[in-house]
Formats: sequence, structure tokens, C-alpha cells
Amino acid sequence: MLKEKDKIFTNLFGDDAYSLKSAKKRGDWDNTKTLIKKGRDWIIDEMKKSELRGRGGAGFPTGLKWSFMPKDPALNNYLVVNADESEPGTCKDRDMIRNEPHKLIEGCLLASFAMNAHTCYIYIRGEYFNEAVVLQNAIDEAYEAGLVGKNAAKSGWDFDVYLHRGAGAYICGEETALLESLEGKKGFPRLKPPFPANKGLYGAPTTVNNVETIAVVPTILRRGGEWFSSFGRKKNTGTKVFCISGHVNNPCNIEEEMGLPLRELIEKHAGGVMGGWDNLKAIIPGGSSVPLIPRNICDSVLMDFDSLAEVKSGLGTAAVIVMDKSTDLVKAISKLSHFYKHESCGQCTPCREGTGWLWRMMEKIGEGNATSTDIDKLLDVTKQIEGHTICALGDAAAWPIQGLFRHFREEIEESLTKIRAA
Ligand code: SF4
Repeated sequence: MLKEKDKIFTNLFGDDAYSLKSAKKRGDWDNTKTLIKKGRDWIIDEMKKSELRGRGGAGFPTGLKWSFMPKDPALNNYLVVNADESEPGTCKDRDMIRNEPHKLIEGCLLASFAMNAHTCYIYIRGEYFNEAVVLQNAIDEAYEAGLVGKNAAKSGWDFDVYLHRGAGAYICGEETALLESLEGKKGFPRLKPPFPANKGLYGAPTTVNNVETIAVVPTILRRGGEWFSSFGRKKNTGTKVFCISGHVNNPCNIEEEMGLPLRELIEKHAGGVMGGWDNLKAIIPGGSSVPLIPRNICDSVLMDFDSLAEVKSGLGTAAVIVMDKSTDLVKAISKLSHFYKHESCGQCTPCREGTGWLWRMMEKIGEGNATSTDIDKLLDVTKQIEGHTICALGDAAAWPIQGLFRHFREEIEESLTKIRAA
């Protein structure tokens, strides 16, 4: 269990104020100038040592991603922070913004400096109205105190940070759709390559990072990359904020060590599964787009990128959705299918047509009006969608269905047979 002294987000629950004065008491903005004076190479090196992997879902190594940014000072690089947190089950960035906005702003300055960016945009989902108000207040405080703006934190680096509110489309959380939206266009994902590090916002080199990824940067630099990588295991390091929801006694967000057992996470922090661990049916361990895992895997799986990939699921956004035995899994996954159908931007045919078809088939199965052949056809269509679309929304629509039938096909077929016989 992570010790209090090793927590990065010491005000995650909002016990203290989010103001600059309180944030400074918690250690934020402590001699930021000294960190900047150590130089870009030192910052990127520490980030590599930390082995931090992006906290938005994809898990790409952060230090490596930053090192892709061109170093030519004549170029107008950008940092864009993805605060369009819309993955069902996920609400970690929300609490960081609400209660620790200065960690994020300081992280923006340090990351931007490391990537030769004088400008940073934070793209926040439109529904996070209160959080946008808090964050803007914190940005204003930082400007007034000279921590951002010209000669930010007396470091000699000029740095501006702008908050931009989205309008509620899930797809704008996809990094290139986010850039399109930021440019004032429809949130359509772009074909890659070119990748944003070469041609991103306004055609300039851009790095897009998640809120949590950027908010942990100041602490990593103060305490050292090796301190961060001492938690968890190789390539799955650090601390992580998990969101636990569904059939648990105490749904919560909690910062823990990467790689702790899923069962321990739920029992220690979320008050356990309603009705006890034996009442558990399945868990979606990383936000709605990753495949669910049944109880026998939940018994022992560790909460990190590689352990969850080994059981054909994923850490994703680390949003743990717990479903007890009262859950109709077909209906639950069908709801997710409807969500992806609704959020498809419609640019590519397999996703535009396929997501609606998947949902209709899931409804048919839910009504008991399907056969084993229908399930085969459904799984075949998920394979036609997966990997054949511009962005990962197609995969996100396919994976929950594949996970459902990988583990529960027999049980679902039995219930279909019973319905037919009745
Ligand atoms: Fe749009 Fe779906 Fe294609 Fe992504 S996969 S670009 S959401 S149609």
C-alpha cells in the first residue's frame, strides 16, 4: 500500500483549498526556476529514468515522446494538455483539476520548457464547467504571481497557458481530433502519419499529453526519476490514480502504487464488492473501451499495463468498473456499444456503419432473439472493424464485445437456448 509520504496528489480529496497559497504549502511551485535552470536534457533524462508511461490510456513512454519534439528554437512548438476526460468510468483528471490545479499548471511550464514550447493549451471537456472555472482561477493566480507569462517563475523562459473548453464530443479526446477542434474545426481524427510531433497544432510540432501525465512532472523532477521508478515494476512504474465505481461499497478515486493486485485495490480502498468478493461477476479494469475480465482473473491480476495486457485486457485510464452477479452483462456491454455508436464521428465506414450494427446485434442477443451463428457473425464483424479505422474508437467499440464472449459465451448461449425452449 502506498505510504502517505509517497503520494503525489496530497489534496486529491479536496480537504484543503486549491488556491496558490495552499498549493505552495503543499510544495507546489517550490523553486521551479532551479528545475528549469538544470536544462531541457536533464528534464527529459529524468522523465526517461522515471519510466513514466502516458496516463491517458495508450501508455506510451513520456520521456521518449518528449524527445521526439524538434529542438530547433526557430520552430513554434506546442504542448497541448488533454483534459477532455470522457471515457465512461473515468474521473481522475476531474479531481486533479478541482483540487490540485497548480500541479498541472507547474507541470505545463516544465514540460513546455523541456519541449521548447512557449505556448500550452489545455483542452477541457465542456461538461467540466466547474473544473474549468477552478482551473482558470488558478491560471490567473499563476499569472498574477509571475509564475507563468513573461520570464515565468523568474526562469528567463516566456510561457503562456490557455484554457479551451470543448463542446462535449467524446471523440475530441482522441489527440488529433482534439487538435482539429482546438483549431476551430469539426473534431475529426486525422490520418497518421504525420504524427503531431512533426505536424500538430496549426501545422507546428506538438505534443499532446494527459492531465495526470503532466501533473506528476513537478514531483518527479523534485524527487528524481529513480524515486518514481522505485514503485511498481520495470516499465510499469510509479504511482497512479485509480477510479473505482460500480458494485462496490465505497466508490472512490485513489492514488496507489502501480501494479498492486486488483483485489487489494478494491478491498482496501473501495470497501469491497457489494455482497462480498464471491458475489463478483466481472470487472472492466481500465475504462469502458477495454475488455472485461471474469472473477477468476480478478482474483490475482495486477493493476499495471503489462499484467492486464497479458490477460487480454488493458490498464487504459485505470477506471475500474465492478459488476456483481446481479449484472446482466449483455445489457451492460450493449449500453457501451450504444455509446460508441453515438460517439462515432462517421469518417470511416467500418466504424460509422459497424458500431450501429454491433449495437443492434447486442440488443438482439439481449432480447434472447439470437443464435450461436449470430454470435459468430458478431465476433467476425468486430474483427473487421478492429484495426481498420482511422482512430482507435473502432477498436474501443469492438473490444468490450470480444471480451464479453471470450469469457461468457457459454453462459450466454445457455440462456439463449433456454429462452428459445420456453
Ligand atoms: Fe471517426 Fe470512428 Fe473513424 Fe475514429 S474510427 S475516425 S471515430 S469513424
